[in-house]
Amino acid sequence: MISPLAQPPIPKPARRNRLGRFILILFLVAAVAAGSVLSQGVTPPGRSGDALALVESAWDVALSKVGETPNLAPNPWPGEIIFCEPLPESQRRAFADGVALMRSTENGAALFQMLQDEGVCIGVEDLPYNSAYATSRWTPGNGWAESEIRIDTSYVTFLYPDVLAAILVHEATHIERAITRTSCYYADACTVLPNGVYLEEEVVAHSAEAEFWIALFGRDGKDRALANDHAENQLKAFYLQGPDAFLEFVREMRSDSREGDGIG
Ligand SMILES: [Zn+2]
Repeated sequence: MISPLAQPPIPKPARRNRLGRFILILFLVAAVAAGSVLSQGVTPPGRSGDALALVESAWDVALSKVGETPNLAPNPWPGEIIFCEPLPESQRRAFADGVALMRSTENGAALFQMLQDEGVCIGVEDLPYNSAYATSRWTPGNGWAESEIRIDTSYVTFLYPDVLAAILVHEATHIERAITRTSCYYADACTVLPNGVYLEEEVVAHSAEAEFWIALFGRDGKDRALANDHAENQLKAFYLQGPDAFLEFVREMRSDSREGDGIG
């Protein structure tokens, strides 16, 4: 039984349900938005017919093989990853690889530990625009355990565990800031873009993502990155130009009117 007087631990919830009993903060997030200005992936040579899917698959595998290997060794999570619903084996393996790489850095390991400790689940969703989003939700009965991270299906692939890991770092950063009340949202210190994106919140999450990418591949980025990993290189490059350049880069990248399509 939940007391109607129970108070959430945060003074300014973004949204409440009709009963006012839980906090719901939906970050309209894209680690690196699919199809955005960042995405300059290589497309396969023109083909048609039944073989197209197979050709694309083979092409994707070929692209992924030419890229540089991370500097850091994967650090597999020894327990069960909390998934939001049962996933096929291929997606569970993709997440296991992504989480192992996420945990290769100190910050990534701490972030993933926090997700597991708080009971935050990881799931898959078909997203029309964003590559991922995080929902942080607190209830008196379950604490933060109803929070979740959702990754677009196309990113849950064994081909690019580095990109999946970078996205997880980004989303976990949002969750951590909600839990620790350090999000600019709580201080009323966010610039809200016309499409509803909290600019400074995204700058912090993209910064964590860029720092993770640098830890994996150095300041020169990943060599021979030709697909989604190219976008992470670009994010890293702007990050290294300094705070002002990075802020403007994130503002431009995250101002698309399609942000949040299909979410919530
Ligand atoms: Zn974000």
